Amino acid sequence: METILNVVRLSVNAELKSGFTQIVKGLSFKIASGEQLGIVGESGCGKTMTAMAIFGLLPANCHADGEVILNGNSLLGLSKKQMNEKRGREIVLIPQSGADFLNPSLRVRDQIYETLKKAGLTDKDDLRERAEELLRHVGFDKPLEVLEKYPFQLSGGMAQRIVLAIGLAFSPSLVIADEPTRGIDDETAALFIKQLERMFADSAVIVITHNIALARTCRNILVMHSGAMMEYGRADLILNSPKHPYTRSLIDALPANGFKSTTLKDRGSMNGREGCPFYSRCSIGTNDCAKNTIPLKNDGGVSWRCLHA
Ligand code: SF4
Repeated sequence: METILNVVRLSVNAELKSGFTQIVKGLSFKIASGEQLGIVGESGCGKTMTAMAIFGLLPANCHADGEVILNGNSLLGLSKKQMNEKRGREIVLIPQSGADFLNPSLRVRDQIYETLKKAGLTDKDDLRERAEELLRHVGFDKPLEVLEKYPFQLSGGMAQRIVLAIGLAFSPSLVIADEPTRGIDDETAALFIKQLERMFADSAVIVITHNIALARTCRNILVMHSGAMMEYGRADLILNSPKHPYTRSLIDALPANGFKSTTLKDRGSMNGREGCPFYSRCSIGTNDCAKNTIPLKNDGGVSWRCLHA
């Protein structure tokens, strides 16, 4: 399949009051047309900053280095205007909360029409027909009723589906869903992820989530900790037989596995120190893990960084 997105040694550096800090550390991955990548990790691991670097919306105190190549074109060198043209058309962001994304003072109809006008539709009947079609596509049986609603009249799940409908207006190459199921129960969340993948079947899709179980329908998973890749590869292989101790702890902590809590050590912060970023919490780490560069290992469709696993 054709590669849509190629990310090569992507780093994000932030200038803080305390000095410079690297919040994303040399990530590399590819996504082909029709493939999904789940980026998984706890809050603060750098997954959202990775998405924002690709989407070109990093905070002013952050800077991205490396390569982000979309459809053969490098994104990091583009001007604000050029990125603005790509956002919403070639790259779509599905936010954490559809309700927050939608304008509370405008009916659903006006918000969908606004996007469709950018896509070139002007005729009133064409706008209504296309809006109805998009709403049916995301599972609304009575699209005309939904078009008349304001955001406060929608449930969280309905608002997210409307954001999907807006995203579908342009057939984007890349869809980034940033914790799109936050605040939705697990069953609805799993259905939403499946729907997302079905809706954007020809796009490259990134699903950012703290819940590794939600990434199970993705083709690949990238597990992050402290801004770095811990494990990356085929979702089925990683979920059935995780190599990295951190991935194992995420899987053990799932409700289906009885919320087993891996005994995590507390060896203090690794900030500024060499060695494995997971050392401070790893139950099998040794002094060597704190001092050495951790090698990248590969087995079939999975890569991971660990000295002892
Ligand atoms: S390198 Fe060492 S500290 Fe890091 S995950 Fe592996 S065993 Fe644990």
